[in-house]
Parts: sequence; C-alpha cells; structure tokens
Amino acid sequence: MMQAEIIAVGSELLGPSRLDTNSLFLTRELQRLGVPVIRKTILPDQREVLAAAIADACRRTPLVFTTGGLGPTEDDLTVTAAAQALGLALRQDAAAVRRLRRRFRNRHARMSRNNLQQTMRLADAQWLPNPVGSAMGQWCATPRGALVLLPGPPVELHRMFLEQVLPRLKDKLPRAAIHTRVLSLVGLDESRVDSLAAPLYRRVSNPATSILATAPQQVELHLTASARTPGGARIRTDRLARQLTRRLGTAVFSQDRQSLAEIVGHLLRQRRETLAVAESCTGGLLGAALTETAGASDYFLGGVLAYANAVKANQLGVSAVTLRRYGAVSAATAREMAAGVSRRLGADWGVAITGIAGPAGGSRTKPVGTVFVGIVNRAGAPAHSVRFHFSGDRDRIRRSSVLRALNELRLALLASPRR
Ligand code: ATP
Repeated sequence: MMQAEIIAVGSELLGPSRLDTNSLFLTRELQRLGVPVIRKTILPDQREVLAAAIADACRRTPLVFTTGGLGPTEDDLTVTAAAQALGLALRQDAAAVRRLRRRFRNRHARMSRNNLQQTMRLADAQWLPNPVGSAMGQWCATPRGALVLLPGPPVELHRMFLEQVLPRLKDKLPRAAIHTRVLSLVGLDESRVDSLAAPLYRRVSNPATSILATAPQQVELHLTASARTPGGARIRTDRLARQLTRRLGTAVFSQDRQSLAEIVGHLLRQRRETLAVAESCTGGLLGAALTETAGASDYFLGGVLAYANAVKANQLGVSAVTLRRYGAVSAATAREMAAGVSRRLGADWGVAITGIAGPAGGSRTKPVGTVFVGIVNRAGAPAHSVRFHFSGDRDRIRRSSVLRALNELRLALLASPRR
C-alpha cells in the first residue's frame, strides 16, 4: 500500500495560535485515494532541521509532502533544505524568472532580488504552477517515490493539490478505495479493549485498527481498509468487525456510529414498549440523552427528578423502611425508584439512577462515585439493580452514570424475550 507523510514547515505553527490545517486537508484528500498518512511533523524554519527531516522522510516513506516555506523571504528554506536532503543541485529556471517578472509588471510592483529565490528549482523536479500566488510548488522524484513541495497559504495549497498533484498521483496509484467501520463500546476501558482486540487486529495490517477513548465509559475501534473497490474495502472491514464483536460481545453497542441512546430507542421502538426514568444524582441528564434523538416521544414517556427523600417516597413509592435502613443511595432504593416510576407513568420499562456525584457526600462504605442503577420491566422479573463505582470529577461521574444506565437498559432489553 502506498503511504504518505507530511512535514508542515513554519515556526508560527509551533506557536500557540496558528493551527496546521494543511495536513488535515492533505490527509483527507489522500485518504480518498487510499493513501494513508502515517506520520505528520511540524518543524520550525531552520534549514538543518528541515533537511534532516526531509531526508529521513524520503528514506522511509514513498510520498512525502511539505507545506510552507516556499516564499521569497529569508526564513523560507524548504527548497534549499530539500536540495540538501536529497543531494540535488538547485537551478535557477529562466522561464520561472520571466514569469515572475511578468507577474510583478502586471501588478505594477517592483520585484526585489529576494523574489528570485522562488525561481530555484530542484534538479529534475517539475514545477507545480500556482494560479493564486507567487510561490510555485515542486514535484521531485525520489528513489522511493516523490517529494512534493507545496505552499503554506491554504487557498494556494488546496488549488495546487487538486489541480496539479491529484492528477499526477492518480497516474501513479492503483485505483484504491477506503472503507472505515467504527465499533462503539461501552463499559470497558481502553486498555481492556486493547488486550481483548489486539490478538485479532494485529494479525492483519489492512484493515488498520486504532483505539480511541471518546467519552467516559466509551471506547471506539476504527477499522480502515483499502482495496481496489469500495465493496472490497467494506468486505475487509466487515470481516474484522465480525471477529472483534464475537470476542468483545455485548460491550459493542454499535457498528455504525449510533449513540447508546439511539440504540436503546431503536430497541424500544421495535418492541413497541415505553420507558420512564427516575433520576437522582444525574438531575435530568438521562432524560436529556434519551431525547437527543428525534422521535423519542414514541417510547419515552417522561421522568421524575427525585432528589429529596420525600419525593422518592411520595412520588415514586420508595418505602420509608428502605430509605431508613439502606439509605437514598442504595440498591434497594434504585430498584424501588425504577419500579415506582414505571408504575406511576404507566411505562413498560423503568430506569433509575441514584448515587453520589461529589465532591462531598461520600462515606467509607459509599465513596464519591458510588452509583446504583435500577432497572425494571413491568412484564418481567422484579426490578434489579447494579452498583458502579466511577472515578473522576462530578461531571464525569454523572456522565458515566447516564451511559451505564442506558447500557443496563440495553442489556436488559437484549436479554428479555420479545412479546
Ligand atoms: P508565501 O510566501 O507565498 O505566502 P509560503 O509557502 O512561504 O508561501 P508560509 O510563508 O510558510 O508559506 O506560510 C504562509 C501562510 O500560510 C502562513 O502565515 C499561514 O497563515 C499559512 N500556513 C502556512 N502553513 C500552514 C499550515 N500547515 N496550515 C495552515 N496554514 C498554514
């Protein structure tokens, strides 16, 4: 597989306020061609540093792109660094000099000697014309492939890439297509997912697999395959996706980027069943997550925010004995809250959350992060509850609670026979 690397040149890109967006553009465009970018580097305007990096990159990777540093000033060093890196002579190009003079004449501007720097071409390189700026790019063959020098200003880079680079690349590449599949997982941390998945994905280099922790309690596996056709690429990702889901089991909740709330909604809608929630420590976040998807009112009836014990008792029917004996944050309270809210709102399913989000309120037996999720299906077995211990700050604990509550509901739905 042809691979690429990008070197973004410009000291300003190492500062706090200018982002290297050129490499994002290039990565996207290259990915469409089936050329993965395997390394990006951002470097200052220093000739020796640039020369060393360009030499290394050209040794290791077939396609090397630089962006920036093609201008007429002292700190525009990419061309001389490239010459040094590849051991190539630099030649002043007479046609380029004429073109530059004409450009200045047309603009009634004086050309300074510095500008001639932009007419120096690497021996054997091809110019890449720049219809919107003065700095031309260069396409230079290397022993492994090509070094492509592109200008820094994004508009110039975009046009030059699309008009000059793309056609040259397409000639060189076998036709390739890319397909990405995303497996979303809940409840396993990144290292656990990796230890389960690595034995499977390490066996193959196409698809390439990466693991991302995207939110508390959530991890994604991105499988990206290339092949001659889109269908071929899809077959490759799907084969690995099947093996991974077999290994990872019910932790995988989606294979096409649906949220957990969407999946739960989909299951409820399929079964024509309804849901009500009772929330203590999440203060409505569960309801909010459920109603993020349009059409949630098909299955989501509503909920009760039950913070005070009186609300838990009077609105949800949590017994005074339970509250006194086990406390508001307990397995029994979570169960009774779930049962109570489903009864009160006439829903098929009830989900309850009660916990300690902190920073205060923890104890030795129930430290901050202790959360109980209660689940009930009124047509099924009595309510059950699950105890969690989440780490992190208040926000993280609350968001973890919502996700694990949604997941408990998903698991209960999957386990309960459809009527
Ligand atoms: P010219 O001299 O014709 O402007 P150049 O190739 O010398 O072109 P630079 O001087 O390196 O380009 O950069 C010009 C401007 O382009 C920078 O000030 C910055 O705004 C933008 N730029 C450079 N590199 C990047 C990058 N990697 N991502 C986004 N913008 C960039």
